[in-house]
Order: sequence, then structure tokens, then C-alpha cells
Amino acid sequence: MSRKIEGTGDSAEWMLYDDFTSTPVVHLVGCYICEDDEFARMGLPLCRKCRKCQEAGRGDGHIAADDTVCDVCGWDEIEDYERWEVERGQLRRLQLTLDEREETE
Ligand SMILES: [Zn+2]
Ligand SMILES: [Zn+2]
Repeated sequence: MSRKIEGTGDSAEWMLYDDFTSTPVVHLVGCYICEDDEFARMGLPLCRKCRKCQEAGRGDGHIAADDTVCDVCGWDEIEDYERWEVERGQLRRLQLTLDEREETE
């Protein structure tokens, strides 16, 4: 039997109220990360522009913060190894937070 300790319902809640926020650079209607401003308020990595879309003049594209594939053109950002190495750490942080949210909701 598990008993919930009062006050620890949402362990990521404090992130909403610290000074660390993210600025959205893309917005895709229907994307749960783009449409939920809690991600930005918590300072989590947000969806990214797609380099291939920009190079092709298609606009900014949309690569979900928890994915590496562009929703517009299907390019996989993991092919861009150098940049991927930098962002992998941020991705890890987001996934851990999402896991926590799933457990508490
Ligand atoms: Zn998005
Ligand atoms: Zn793209």
C-alpha cells in the first residue's frame, strides 16, 4: 500500500516559479509541447527550428523538444551529430521531467 505524502504531488512545480524560462522559437498547432506554456515557464527545452527547412526556404520547420525528427520535412536532427551532442543533455532533462509528470498525473 502506498500513501502519498502531502505537498509532493507535483515535484516539478517549483520549476514554474523560478526565474529560469525558455523562449519559444517555433509553434506548431496541436503539438503538446508548443501548446503547453508550462514547458517554457519551467525553462525546459522547447521545440526547435529545423535547419533543413530553413535551408530549403520552407520556413522554420518544427522539431519537437522530445524528438529529433522534423514534423514538416522528416529530417532527423540526429544526423547533425555535432549539434545533437549539445542538445542531448537538455533532452535528457526533459524526458526525466515528463516521466515525473506521468507518474503524478
Ligand atoms: Zn512543438
Ligand atoms: Zn524540416
